[in-house]
Amino acid sequence: MVKKVLKFGGTSVGTVERIQHVANIIKKEISLGNKVIAIVSAMAGKTNDLIKLSCEISNEFNKREFDVLLSSGEQVTCALLSGALIKLNMKAKSWLNWQIPILTSGEHSNARIINMHVEKINKYLNDGGVPIIPGFQGISKNGDITTIGRGGSDATAVAVAKIFNADTCEIYTDVDGVYSTDPNKIPVAKKIDKISYDEMLELSSLGAKVMQSSAVQTAMMYDISLEVRSTFTERKGTKIFSQENIDYSKSVTGVAYSKDDAKITLTGVQDKPGVAANIFEPLSKAQINVDMVIQNISSDQKTTDITFTVKRDEVFKTEQILKDNKNIKYKKIIQNNKVAKVSIVGAGMVSTPGITYRMFRALSDEKINILAISTSEIKLSVIIEEENVLKAIKKLHTIFDLD
Ligand code: ADP
Ligand code: ASP
Ligand code: MG
Repeated sequence: MVKKVLKFGGTSVGTVERIQHVANIIKKEISLGNKVIAIVSAMAGKTNDLIKLSCEISNEFNKREFDVLLSSGEQVTCALLSGALIKLNMKAKSWLNWQIPILTSGEHSNARIINMHVEKINKYLNDGGVPIIPGFQGISKNGDITTIGRGGSDATAVAVAKIFNADTCEIYTDVDGVYSTDPNKIPVAKKIDKISYDEMLELSSLGAKVMQSSAVQTAMMYDISLEVRSTFTERKGTKIFSQENIDYSKSVTGVAYSKDDAKITLTGVQDKPGVAANIFEPLSKAQINVDMVIQNISSDQKTTDITFTVKRDEVFKTEQILKDNKNIKYKKIIQNNKVAKVSIVGAGMVSTPGITYRMFRALSDEKINILAISTSEIKLSVIIEEENVLKAIKKLHTIFDLD
């Protein structure tokens, strides 16, 4: 007997037929003698529809009510899946966030699961039942409903696997695993059989939404191995686990991209100690996350240009803070939000010289201009014009032998 957490994403529960199909997957696991806790997302597109509804009322919709609204999508799928299992003569029951309860801390829309009550659910499991738990949500210590960030059902699944001491945590989705890049954008992308937490964390934080990054982070912290697999095929998925178990024959494991960045340049900034701190301190106080920073060499020893990137939806707020900042002097603010970040990731990069040069050469062969660069031990990211993203991913995918 194995205790399994099975998480089903939005597309996997996108229609009634698909929910019935998911019920059959669970039934099969139970017939093999396993115990199953199921975590479900809202039906595909539902969370976006709910966001649109809130915008029709106000673009500054009340944060508490926003979470009440958004959490409702998962309530629907919990009940439908439970009903589908009952129809198959199985013992199943849905639990809502406050009934378990799933306790969270942190602000609305960006809360974090800190604990769950296990007794009732464990008893139900031991009696042969299948508990169905809504992903993406919990309640705060005040009893308010919270959500835990987009794609958050992955994080719920990992938290449940940890708290209930599950043997496996399987992420069922609409692709058959983690690929070298998004298979829906680059058809020659290759499935990766095994990937380390570190690489998966880089890939997901750099845009591969197949796994939510905070879920990977928690899995890494508690050494919970994950498997990403398809709801629609029986093919073997991708195992995500610690690095010792992986043999690296390739220097680059995957290519990720995101289109939610923007670049800001301040020209004619004074070139003296303390200026960078004066620019970035108010941004950090306003919780704006600055990603890449480049300071040009000053030609006259007096002024310089500073370029940095922020999330695209924070670019106007950033500009306003810069304009209001009385502690800095500059000539102009130039803003470009038609940029994208393309990254190569691979634990094998540490031991392979020349990766940086090969990436830059490949982009220059495609006449793609690099606007900013950032590196870590196992990743190399560049900012380029958004229109060049597909061309860049294809080229990098090919030259690093991933096709
Ligand atoms: P779910 O609703 O099941 O959580 P998501 O839409 O969040 O599914 O994630 C699955 C999607 O992630 C795939 O359909 C695919 O387009 C996208 N994706 C992006 N990068 C990758 C990658 N490297 N490997 C696999 N899928 C990826
Ligand atoms: N339904 C939520 C979202 O769309 C959570 C999830 O699907 O993981 O972000
Ligand atoms: Mg997802």
